[in-house]
Amino acid sequence: MLPAELPRRSLPILGAAPRIEPRTVRVSLTDRCDLACVYCRPSRSDGYLEKRLGDEAWRAMVQALVHKGVRRFRITGGEPLLHPRVTELVAYVASLGVEDLALTTNATRLEKLALPLRQAGLRRLTVSLDSLVPERFWRITRGGRLDHVLAGVDAARRAGFEELKLNTVVLRDENDDELPALVEWAWARGIVPRFIEVMRVGEGANLPASKLVGHDEMRRRLASLLVDDVGARDPHRGPARYVPSRRDPRLRVGFITGTTDTYCSTCDRLRVASDGTLRPCLATNDGVAAMDLAQRGDVDGLVRAIGEAWDLKPDGQTWKGCTEDTAAGVSMRAIGG
Ligand code: SAM
Repeated sequence: MLPAELPRRSLPILGAAPRIEPRTVRVSLTDRCDLACVYCRPSRSDGYLEKRLGDEAWRAMVQALVHKGVRRFRITGGEPLLHPRVTELVAYVASLGVEDLALTTNATRLEKLALPLRQAGLRRLTVSLDSLVPERFWRITRGGRLDHVLAGVDAARRAGFEELKLNTVVLRDENDDELPALVEWAWARGIVPRFIEVMRVGEGANLPASKLVGHDEMRRRLASLLVDDVGARDPHRGPARYVPSRRDPRLRVGFITGTTDTYCSTCDRLRVASDGTLRPCLATNDGVAAMDLAQRGDVDGLVRAIGEAWDLKPDGQTWKGCTEDTAAGVSMRAIGG
């Protein structure tokens, strides 16, 4: 049974059904966040979803995803570390023997949680950090404390994750002069820095177009550090392209270019919002509401709902993902950025 409150398809029919199956999921454990980054949400009080999945419902959802063939999980949000039982939920996913289990966090609460998460089976961690200058960090996040984030990063390094990455959204006249400093800072700590073009998703659509710093400009700013090469993707690890350092090929920088480029044709991602809505694409609000099924523990019904949601996936050939106008109406915080 599929609840009817969501439109089944707001997209034009784009032709052939997607050829790839869902293998990767981004689970938004909560739409709550303790920051309000200027490209993500308009303020700290822009409202939250009224209903969210409980622990048993999440277990049913995770089981259904695994039944459907999903093997790679990323826990995100909102801010996933605000969920009171994030560690238990990570342990549950890990207990199913998935191929990959990663989490994206703003790290404000990571200092205490890094080790318990690692012990629960979390393998890889991405920290979002847009500036190493406290005042800038405070301004971009609308009130975030850089010292808390840095303490979280230190704790994560001690906890021994398989991989640590940094996500930096680059904004003109905010942090675009910090790219080399962020790279050196990350490399010195065994962290892979990644730079993200601001996308016209959610509040990002309300920023002036001049705030966008495109891939080519980022590369010019990093020309003395990186080889002249387009870089390569890591298999099954999303759209980032990684470019090696001139001085040591083991060091590299990732670029996520959802605005000047699109990579929808290879997307095998599904998203699950914290209210149980199954979303096939970051750039639309299309989806299948599956909260009732999850709350009833109806794993077979959820497997069918995942298939229905996957059928809504844009074809990836004519669809331009996060550059499409529908992206402006999406809340990354709600559906899992
Ligand atoms: N709270 C967690 C965090 O801060 O990493 C997870 C959720 S956050 C929505 C996930 C990622 O989405 C962050 O790295 C954030 O910078 C990125 N993001 C949010 N809005 C964006 C936008 N309009 N363009 C590009 N990246 C965006």
